[in-house]
Amino acid sequence: MTYQADEKGYYGDFGRAFIPEMLYPNVEKLRSKYLEIMKEASFRKEFDQLLKDYVGRPTPLYLAERLSEKYKTKIYLKREDLCHTGAHKINNTIGQILVAKRLGKNRVIAETGAGQHGVATATVCALMGIECVVYMGEVDIARQAPNVARMKLLGATVIPAKSGSKTLKDATNEAIRDWINNPVNTHYIIGSVVGPHPYPDMVARFQSVISEEVKTQLKEKEGRENPDYVVACVGGGSNAAGIYFHYLDNPEVGIIAVEAAGKGIFTGESAATSALGKEGIIHGSKTLLMQTADGQITEPYSISAGLDYPGIGPMHANLFRTGRAEFISVTDDAAMKAGQELARLEGIIPAIESAHALAIFKDRKFKEDEVVVVNLSGRGDKDLSTYIDYFNL
Ligand SMILES: *Cc1c(COP(=O)(O)O)cnc(C)c1O
Repeated sequence: MTYQADEKGYYGDFGRAFIPEMLYPNVEKLRSKYLEIMKEASFRKEFDQLLKDYVGRPTPLYLAERLSEKYKTKIYLKREDLCHTGAHKINNTIGQILVAKRLGKNRVIAETGAGQHGVATATVCALMGIECVVYMGEVDIARQAPNVARMKLLGATVIPAKSGSKTLKDATNEAIRDWINNPVNTHYIIGSVVGPHPYPDMVARFQSVISEEVKTQLKEKEGRENPDYVVACVGGGSNAAGIYFHYLDNPEVGIIAVEAAGKGIFTGESAATSALGKEGIIHGSKTLLMQTADGQITEPYSISAGLDYPGIGPMHANLFRTGRAEFISVTDDAAMKAGQELARLEGIIPAIESAHALAIFKDRKFKEDEVVVVNLSGRGDKDLSTYIDYFNL
């Protein structure tokens, strides 16, 4: 029994690759090569070196003493907020750009919602001198002007998706169309543990550096590799997959997944996929997703752009279905308060996504001697205007 993907990309009942015929050659080439490439000594060396010198890894594992005191348990923060570009997403884009080079690709495409993955992709393309095209919904382009400017400054071309709701899912459709038309020279960098196999597994492996580091760091600090719990917010689920990875099959370590309840799970303005989702296929993968009775994907809502996704990756759908992980959903209000609390207790302003993970301590109690590691997936600089509006700063 494993909670990892099998070689066909199944996580229990979920995952696999459900793709249009015309995409098959692209996905199949990647599937047949990714593990081999990731095992090459030259790949490992280049990946590790870039994570160290460019991203700034290992990121610290920080004992948050005042937060721990307040909630009467031992809380460690894994500081992905200190990564170059401000979040964990760069771990994955570094990995995929190196795969793209080894597949002989000279052009990269990506989809982005809030722009964070677009920026992480534009960054590694600049680093490698590779052409970068980012698809982004027209509505999102208007909402996320600073990230659009970052991508342009980094040399990327940002193409607006003008169909449908003009948001992330429409940008994804445009990116897939592009990939079908450019199968030879283009690699598609997906930004989370979603999409057809092998993406969820490949992205989880790149992000697994997070739990690999936690094991060593916790051994140093606590004399044991295993915390009692690992906690992360789940949008698509890549930062969560990263901090769960090396603990997935270890029943001694509890897994907690935190979703965005938006204005409340049943208000119609929510992104609490495990509570609201049903089995379906999105972006080439079978998973849980928010949909109407006749299978139309419903528009998700969260105050944090990174959690505003109608599905979750197949790994997480399986963790939910099997009961391996405990799922908790957190409202906008609770997340905003937890963000402010971390700022005031620890001097760290978290991304609002990460603030959702921190918000569980109000209601979910832990024992005093338990060690809880929370993945602080990103920093709050990008969310300053949301904090300003919310707290009237
Ligand atoms: C994008 C993002 C997320 C959500 O994406 P996952 O794939 O679920 O990790 C969470 N936190 C931050 C800071 C992000 O930028």
